[in-house]
Amino acid sequence: MQAKAMVVTTPGRLEFRSFPVGEPAPGEVLVRTRATSVCATDVKVFHGQVGRARFPLIMGHEFVGEVVAAGREAAARHGWKEGDRVTPEPYIPCGRCAWCRTEHHYHNCPDVRLYGISIPCDRPPHLGGGYGEYVILVEGSLLHRVAPQTPDLAACLSSVVGNGFRWVKTLGEAGFGTRLVISGAGAQGLCTLAAAIACGVGPIVLLGLSADETRFALAREFGAEHIVAVDREDPREAVPDLLRGPPDVVIETSGVPAAIRTALALVRPSGRVVCIGLSGGRETPVAFDDLVWRDVRVVCGKGQAGNVADAVRLIDSRRVPFEKINNTIFRLDDLEKALAATEHPPAGFIKAAVVFEAETPTAQRGSGR
Ligand SMILES: [Zn+2]
Ligand SMILES: [Zn+2]
Repeated sequence: MQAKAMVVTTPGRLEFRSFPVGEPAPGEVLVRTRATSVCATDVKVFHGQVGRARFPLIMGHEFVGEVVAAGREAAARHGWKEGDRVTPEPYIPCGRCAWCRTEHHYHNCPDVRLYGISIPCDRPPHLGGGYGEYVILVEGSLLHRVAPQTPDLAACLSSVVGNGFRWVKTLGEAGFGTRLVISGAGAQGLCTLAAAIACGVGPIVLLGLSADETRFALAREFGAEHIVAVDREDPREAVPDLLRGPPDVVIETSGVPAAIRTALALVRPSGRVVCIGLSGGRETPVAFDDLVWRDVRVVCGKGQAGNVADAVRLIDSRRVPFEKINNTIFRLDDLEKALAATEHPPAGFIKAAVVFEAETPTAQRGSGR
């Protein structure tokens, strides 16, 4: 059997290549890829801006696959069998160090590997990313079973929804009645919104730009009550009005320096600001005296260690149509177009995904036009 994959040979260069697919080793699971969502990180990896990336590389770390064969131990220990659908966590921890014995910090493991980023395809297991027809899920992977009724385009977002739970529960410590502002209406903001609503957080205000109308419409479908376009209305006036006071927690997902400053200004005394957006090297001037006087806690973070099980539970519940986040669909040979759309989003774009099956019921095609 052969697997076709899109390989980043060196930063900026994509090439279609074929790999032989063998039997999985005892601890491995071989999956046929069903859908892979395109992450903004993929664009940075493609341009050679991610230090951990190892080339030649099959990118893609947000994916769902169907088990074709499970190695002897993987089958015995976890019960994996042909036909199961599975979504892996992007981080593959070593499982032995002190970081790996923590619930929420195993992504800091010094020997952690990352699907689609740090597993080069020029040596075994070769197939280490979601932009290939098959992926070898290596021993030590954290795999989550997906319910039969869950669409592939929702299941492949397990780590992104896991991020949402991390910002809300683990870093934001938000729960029932927490007044929350979410800054940024991209995939991270939308998944944060869904996680927050699932946790009983509220009232919630979502901040975005007037150009985000497609995202706002989906946010309303997810259950957003209050949305503010910050280029139309000043959030420093609108938010306290809508929440009847300042927010307890602000989750800033955009990384835009002006948005980070707004987040810090909005939060109540002794409140928490969770900053997870990357600014792409830009600096944000911050008056720390003001944060000291107001007892503000700023928490930064990445990853979804310990938060993906919650995500899969919410995705499988079908209470939230997560598949609509992946609203622009590509075939594998159009990966370069998918990356371009992610880097320079056309109107109405939320997130791109590569699908490997013919049926793409909910989203529009991004290629072939
Ligand atoms: Zn990602
Ligand atoms: Zn470790």
